[in-house]
Amino acid sequence: ERSASRQSRKKVVAVVGGGLVGALNACFFAKRGLDVELFESREDIRRAKIVKGRSINLALSHRGRQALKHVGLEEKIVAQGIPMHARMIHSLDGKQSPIPYGRKGQYILSVDRANLNKELLTAAETYPNTKMNFDHKLQDWNAETGLMTFVRLDGSKEQVKADLIVGCDGAFSAVRKQFLRLSRFDYSQTYIPHGYMELTMPPINGEFAMKPNYLHIWPRNTFMMIALPNLDKTFTCTLFMPFEDFEKITTGDEVIEFFQKYFPDTIPLIGADTLQRDYFRLPAQAMVSVKCNPYHIGDTCVLMGDAAHAVVPFYGQGMNAGFEDCIVFDEIMDQFNEDFSAVLPEYTRVRVPDDHAIADLAMYNYIEMRAHVNSKWFIFRKYVDNILHFFMPKTIIPLYTMVTFTRTRYHEAVKRWHWQNKVINRGLLLSAVGAVLGGSYLLIKNPPDSNKLIVSAEKMWDRLVALRTL
Ligand code: FAD
Repeated sequence: ERSASRQSRKKVVAVVGGGLVGALNACFFAKRGLDVELFESREDIRRAKIVKGRSINLALSHRGRQALKHVGLEEKIVAQGIPMHARMIHSLDGKQSPIPYGRKGQYILSVDRANLNKELLTAAETYPNTKMNFDHKLQDWNAETGLMTFVRLDGSKEQVKADLIVGCDGAFSAVRKQFLRLSRFDYSQTYIPHGYMELTMPPINGEFAMKPNYLHIWPRNTFMMIALPNLDKTFTCTLFMPFEDFEKITTGDEVIEFFQKYFPDTIPLIGADTLQRDYFRLPAQAMVSVKCNPYHIGDTCVLMGDAAHAVVPFYGQGMNAGFEDCIVFDEIMDQFNEDFSAVLPEYTRVRVPDDHAIADLAMYNYIEMRAHVNSKWFIFRKYVDNILHFFMPKTIIPLYTMVTFTRTRYHEAVKRWHWQNKVINRGLLLSAVGAVLGGSYLLIKNPPDSNKLIVSAEKMWDRLVALRTL
């Protein structure tokens, strides 16, 4: 057994997990001057030939950028990302229509996960008070003594003690296992019926095969495909579909048949041969949503990132929320003078409602992205929201804008969204009623053929009903 402390009796923080959130968190703690030890079960990905991870690329937005800025990495990471200003909706007939994410100049960034992780590890390592321990898999730890047991690839074990254990070890967190033994620990995990599969769309004549500055979406109701651009001019296409549908496709011909029916414009771009091969390369991956409360045990352990809140990937906020966790914790550390016995409960109090709100929103978007982006009403409302935001930027802020381009607390964004919806829908209803009354007046003044009048009135009524119910 060794204590992770050095000669100085500075507080020692053990960050378990060197993924995106763990590596960034190590920078935050090191910047404060605490002694940091990072423990990662994998070998150092900067030296590995094959890096296994979740998705190949992901969308970085304001919250994540603010956290990177805090440790001086924003500019570097942004320079390596590709701006996406709008969604590009691909309809079945091949028509493409953009839906902007926000106002002009607002965009999200497509970043390479492995590269971001490597940059974060390198940044953490530049602090002299940080020690990296790769090939250290947390097996168990003791909530009373704070003693952690790690296993190495060669089977050897190491026991380490720290003042604070920060669990950043992802959705299947080993740190969180101890929490499950506690009384009054709420925990839920939900697998959605969909899985995801990544396919690569290569460059054509050295150029992107589609317009690069968009997040491309092929919404097809019960399933959908999206594509994000990479620096090497490829796109990573991700097909989200119920597992049972993935399993129905068993031969190369069936793959082509399926794509021909639902994503015909992508076949020449991905290439029929590649498609037939890559579809069977890896099985579809599962997606889980995890919620828990509290995020801490006493003054010794705290969970952050996916370990605390794995969310389904349909708001592009999992990593961004995890990065924001680091800022929130850091702000509370300032507030309570690094006194863990006060900081940890406050962190739970402040952060749980927000992380639960983004988990719920991501689940909501799981439905919205597949179904609603196809609906005229959804597109109309997006435009209405954006126009109102343009004229009243402080009063009406689209939900997506609050979540993606501000640091408005997630649970407050949801509250405000409900209020705005009420106001906007009522406004639209009033305008419709105004139009009906105005129209009626004109009709009475110049009566048209009565049959036509009945048809128009019926249509108007249908619209009014729709406005009231949506
Ligand atoms: P992880 O990235 O899972 O890292 C956990 C680390 O802990 C790993 O390195 C792992 O090896 C290590 N570890 C695990 N167990 C142990 C152990 N016992 N001991 C030591 N180390 C251990 N988020 C966005 O913001 N935008 C997006 O566009 C986006 N797209 C996504 C698309 C998909 C398909 C998926 C699945 C997720 C997406 N996400 C996105 C979510 C994002 O991937 C996660 O929120 C993010 O990776 C969380 O980071 P993390 O460090 O908490 O966990």
